[in-house]
Amino acid sequence: MTHSNGANPSGIKKPALRVIPLGGLHEIGKNTCVFEYGDDIMLVDAGLAFPSDGMHGVNVVMPDTSYLKENQKRIRGMIVTHGHEDHIGGIAHHLKNFNIPVIHGPRLALAMLTGKMEEAGVMDRTILQTVAPRDVVKVGQHFSVEFIRNTHSMADSFSLAITSPVGTVIFTGDFKFDHTPVDGETFDMARLAHYGDQGVLCLFSDSTNAEVPGFCPPERSVFPCLDRHISQAEGRVIITTFASSIHRVSMILELALKNGRKVGLLGRSMLNVIAKARELGYMRAPDDLFVPIKQIRDLPDRETLLLMTGSQGEPLAALSRISRGEHPQVQVKSADTIIFSASPIPGNTISVVNTIDRLMMQGAKVVYGKGEGIHVSGHGFQEDQKLMLALTKPKYFVPVHGEHRMLVAHSKTAQSMGIPADNILIIDNGDVVQLSPDSISKGDPVKAGIELLDASRNGIVDARVLKERQQLAEDGVITLLAVISTDGVMAAPPRVNIRGVVTTADARKLSMWAEREIGWVLENRWNQLCRNTGGKAPDVDWVGVQREVEVGLQRRLRRELQVEPLIICLVQPAPAGTPAYKGRADAEPDSRPAPRGRGGRDGGRDGGRGRDGSVPAPQRQLATVGAPAAAAAPAAAATTVAVKTPAPAELEPEPAGRTRRRRSAAAVG
Ligand SMILES: [Zn+2]
Ligand SMILES: [Zn+2]
Repeated sequence: MTHSNGANPSGIKKPALRVIPLGGLHEIGKNTCVFEYGDDIMLVDAGLAFPSDGMHGVNVVMPDTSYLKENQKRIRGMIVTHGHEDHIGGIAHHLKNFNIPVIHGPRLALAMLTGKMEEAGVMDRTILQTVAPRDVVKVGQHFSVEFIRNTHSMADSFSLAITSPVGTVIFTGDFKFDHTPVDGETFDMARLAHYGDQGVLCLFSDSTNAEVPGFCPPERSVFPCLDRHISQAEGRVIITTFASSIHRVSMILELALKNGRKVGLLGRSMLNVIAKARELGYMRAPDDLFVPIKQIRDLPDRETLLLMTGSQGEPLAALSRISRGEHPQVQVKSADTIIFSASPIPGNTISVVNTIDRLMMQGAKVVYGKGEGIHVSGHGFQEDQKLMLALTKPKYFVPVHGEHRMLVAHSKTAQSMGIPADNILIIDNGDVVQLSPDSISKGDPVKAGIELLDASRNGIVDARVLKERQQLAEDGVITLLAVISTDGVMAAPPRVNIRGVVTTADARKLSMWAEREIGWVLENRWNQLCRNTGGKAPDVDWVGVQREVEVGLQRRLRRELQVEPLIICLVQPAPAGTPAYKGRADAEPDSRPAPRGRGGRDGGRDGGRGRDGSVPAPQRQLATVGAPAAAAAPAAAATTVAVKTPAPAELEPEPAGRTRRRRSAAAVG
């Protein structure tokens, strides 16, 4: 690998510092950043993201870590800034795939990580080293990292000063400037200013609220509002928030105590986080404040407060189940006051409002939304971001942790503070920021994308699977059984099954269309799909036959019915010499009996498909995306293949544009 160079005073060229975010840009979530100098790689955080609509059956989104797998020998260690899922949620998974010799991080974050690592069975795969404020750790030959206490919605959170041979980088992590933090741990602004005075080469700063003017209100500001709602509640109080919002949870416990209410906890993460935080002293609450959920029903409603998960409308979380009347221990009562002390993450809005509706319909008083003062962000607004820039006075600036428009807004803020536009880079996941003492540039990007884990968290959901799930969910599925003899004759009418497809066409009509497609394929493709090996039975590419039929039928359905269901064709081979099925006489005008060698396809009947079988580019999207790599499916196996077996790359030279295009579509996915 070549590095771009910055010359040091002695004229000897130094390699550039390379900073490569693999996640967290143009999105909120899965923050994962690679710092690279010479032979050393240091990771900063490794988070996960949650699926967006359309990612059916996916419950976790991870960054593609091929780059780290390929370079794992050079990984010297990892730094963790704080314990939020979008920063530590990927680590246990990654430890199964590549080595991270040591992980340095805050006590609370590492305690939470330990739970995840135990669950994943990877406790022996790394060493966890806790740090205290202003600790400096060395990673590899070239990096030293100082942990600077910052303020955020999570306790025990840090910004980083990363010193490398080309200069110092300030990596803010998630932050806001909260001068009256709930736990009394103030932002160590003096250290930021110290580095600012010494000279900061580059600032990588949290952009989450770059579009929001002003200062972010302190976390404490929600206290009086929550207090008002809790003290005025006639019946039970039910509050939902992120379990990891340690400060918020601390305040809620404090308010329960103040208002003479016992606390019942619901939701695994709520129980886990509170137990960990209390054990480590990040949360103070007397033991007798808590009452097991089964016993809390024996107390008067006015003396109870239920704190639970579900602030994002997650279907399996406690509050969501309660809203649907599916919780074994808790049912909504009309005197309940239910408080959403969180704002929905984009993408969760619909499930949150649906949950609120269901709760209200059962008569509960629901308190939610911006105007109530019951939630503040953990991420600084524009003025916080300006203060960060003012303290660190960086030469170069890279906005991170945000969607594209937030990065752009943050860049404008930096420019308003006097940083030239040329000194700012807006980057995407996989981009390589190359830093030398007097330059910032983008290098050749590395592979970055997403890995989707399904509900079991074991299987990776690739683009092909996801596309098929989307088709199934949105347009249904049609299965089709064709009987074709090894000498290329349709031996029986195709059998069609329709599931979940909204269409005016019935199975009979679809069967007829299928019949035409099969006929067309046998007539026009058989020679390419069938290799005469000289033996008794010709070698037929049954998978190819199936795919040709699928694509043809798919195109017809889209054209004539405007539906795009997933189509699965199965071919049952019949012995050579099986008599041909004659086709239907009652077919529509444009139809002809299809068996091989007879009749033909009307010119232009197929609209989009030319005589040479090539597919015009716009139709490509219709083709089912096939993954390129898969074991070659032997012809015989095709009889039982019920899924769309991907095209083996080493198949026969492709006869038509179709298959080839399909593969390029896969490459895009
Ligand atoms: Zn955070
Ligand atoms: Zn974050």
